[in-house]
Amino acid sequence: PGILSSLANAAKQGILLKAGRDLETLAKAKVVVFDKTGTLTTGKPQVTRLLTLGKESEFEILKVASSLESMSDHPIAKAIVAKAEAEQIKVIEPESLKEHIGYGVEGVVEGQNWRLGKPSFFEQELCKAWVPEIEDLESMGQTVILLGNKKNIIAIIALQDTLRQEASYVVRALKQMGLLCVILTGDQKLTAEAVGKELGLSKIYSELLPIDKVNILKELQQTEDNVIMIGDGLNDAPALATAQVGIALGKGGNNITIQNADIIFTNDDLCKLVNLLCLARKAEVIIKQNMFFSITVICTLLVLNLVRDISLPWGVVFHEGSTLLVILNGLRLLGYKCGMKKTPAKTLEKTVVNNGTTE
Ligand code: ADP
Ligand code: MG
Repeated sequence: PGILSSLANAAKQGILLKAGRDLETLAKAKVVVFDKTGTLTTGKPQVTRLLTLGKESEFEILKVASSLESMSDHPIAKAIVAKAEAEQIKVIEPESLKEHIGYGVEGVVEGQNWRLGKPSFFEQELCKAWVPEIEDLESMGQTVILLGNKKNIIAIIALQDTLRQEASYVVRALKQMGLLCVILTGDQKLTAEAVGKELGLSKIYSELLPIDKVNILKELQQTEDNVIMIGDGLNDAPALATAQVGIALGKGGNNITIQNADIIFTNDDLCKLVNLLCLARKAEVIIKQNMFFSITVICTLLVLNLVRDISLPWGVVFHEGSTLLVILNGLRLLGYKCGMKKTPAKTLEKTVVNNGTTE
């Protein structure tokens, strides 16, 4: 009754659990791993700066960039296409195109080869000259991508994603509940650190490919039991399948991600993570109460039967009566509400960057 009531309570809030046993893992969880883009942030970045480094005009840069991104589903791609459209630039079809998951896109536009993506997608030598500009933007929490070819980098495009309104409340509440909050992202180190520090996350892992996310989860699971991961994108799917409990944001999330997850949040509300963990902990308490109570009743009946010979009707009354009480106690979970208060932010605590230095 406790598990069924919890599943019904969760479902009413838009939390779908594929199996009741995950409640047990959630109640014992020690670590929550967050994806950044689309999970802690809204996943709808906007182009904030466009620095031209060569002789090409902003118009030409946006024309090439939007053409390269025209087929991609990535939030950055959508932001660049939207920017081009806002500037009334017609998005042209590229002659060829290849998307490098976790890095960027490469293709031919109007007979020329181009690359568009994060700094590590380019030769180190090419980026060297622009490191101060890139680091400046990244330390403000912006995602920096470059446009260039084999010989030159011709533009720096900065995008700003906004944090979800509820993100800082969720991280604070989870820390109050004694959980370690970790961020995993494919984004650059400085950008990830800016977001991680603003939210007060305990550990930050950046510049990760989907397979790196899986390896870090395995590493975390070696030292900590019951690791939960929450994410939205295709690049999170392998990590969600690896975590003891994987949670997918279902609304903005990808189909494959949803299939690989154990739990789905149908309304993409991060606060539901706090509610779910409270519910799982409460369910554990109630299930333990029920087990303790029913075992006590059975043992008492056994002993009484041996020493005093209880009549059958009384035996039935005690046994079935205790079953009813167990059911009623379990049903309390149907109306359970998490009591965490949305208090204002306090000072940030220590943040460990890439499992190394403490800041
Ligand atoms: P996250 O883990 O933050 O969800 P991804 O793994 O999808 O991020 O991407 C990591 C980084 O790779 C992005 O921050 C971006 O710099 C770059 N990138 C990936 N896909 C694209 C794309 N289509 N266009 C430009 N940059 C991209
Ligand atoms: Mg994501």
